[in-house]
Amino acid sequence: MNLEDITTVKSILSQPQKIVIIPHKNPDGDAIGSCLALRGFLMAKGFKAAIISPNDFPKFLKWMPGCGAILNYEKENAQSKKLLEEATVVFTLDFNHLSRTGQLETPLTEKEADFIMIDHHQQPADYAKVTYSDVSMSSTCEMVYNFIEFLGDVDLITKDIATNLYTGIMTDTGSFKYRSTSSRTHRVVAHLIDCGAQNMEIHQQVFDANSPSRLHLLGVALSNMIILPEYKTAYITLSQQELDDNNFKKGDTEGFVNYGLTLEGIIFAVIFIENREEGIIKISFRSIGDFSVNQFARTHFNGGGHDNAAGGRSELDMEKTIEKFNEVLKTYKSDLNA
Ligand code: 5GP
Ligand code: MN
Repeated sequence: MNLEDITTVKSILSQPQKIVIIPHKNPDGDAIGSCLALRGFLMAKGFKAAIISPNDFPKFLKWMPGCGAILNYEKENAQSKKLLEEATVVFTLDFNHLSRTGQLETPLTEKEADFIMIDHHQQPADYAKVTYSDVSMSSTCEMVYNFIEFLGDVDLITKDIATNLYTGIMTDTGSFKYRSTSSRTHRVVAHLIDCGAQNMEIHQQVFDANSPSRLHLLGVALSNMIILPEYKTAYITLSQQELDDNNFKKGDTEGFVNYGLTLEGIIFAVIFIENREEGIIKISFRSIGDFSVNQFARTHFNGGGHDNAAGGRSELDMEKTIEKFNEVLKTYKSDLNA
């Protein structure tokens, strides 16, 4: 954030405001962590702030401090609409385009208020009064930490705020191992531990809370994995039937896509997950090194994200989607073998 933006934010927050905070649809640890931390911070500054999520969030995050206050726009629609109508300031966190908010896209596009974007995805849209966008950042949570620091308020970071920020940084960096993890990230995380974040407990809450059905679903996913050594690619499919058979709950497939990358020589991993209710195949892409899955998802599967982690969707059925993927893959053979 530049000085001008910091001054603008300070001026906005020097007056009474009604604030809502919005994460992207299907929010992950970074989206939920950043929203909860920002809300905690704004409440410590004396503001009323609400979080409105476009839809539900995964069970493995439902222990996070303050998460009971998150409104689900699908389920608590009337209350959410009212808060959004009354809002004078709207923070949008962990996404770069209003289309990432699903059903909230139209009301947000029409909404007149001071928008503040905090995000680390590529190609941010230009809808906010203040756009704090930095693609080099490990996570939106690291940026919320910076945001608090820019305002000179690091002293206001409580144990709960620290826990939420730690969780988002941990999940978005794959436990501090992805390329965007910097020495600064570690310094921030160290300070969060000093502020009371219980690092071991947080890891356990997020990663050691498997249900037997989730592990069975992982077994199905791994046995469905197709490995294409000539493209250094591995992909997984999961049909709606396979999800249903294994008592699928939101968040259960989190991390499955990464298994492909643990294979020696594989640099591109994909998972295709059928969602019959939405009539789509939801796709996650991951890569190691210079192969940009953001570009791949954007160009072919109506998506985007980061260079090494992106998502997208297909409106074809599973078989046709896989056919299309295999066709497209052929045109990337030299890029994948560079
Ligand atoms: P995931 O595969 O874990 O859902 O998402 C990986 C990254 O890609 C995240 O940063 C996420 O925000 C982004 N992403 C996931 N799905 C989509 C999508 O449909 N469109 C865009 N633009 N980004 C996505
Ligand atoms: Mn993120």
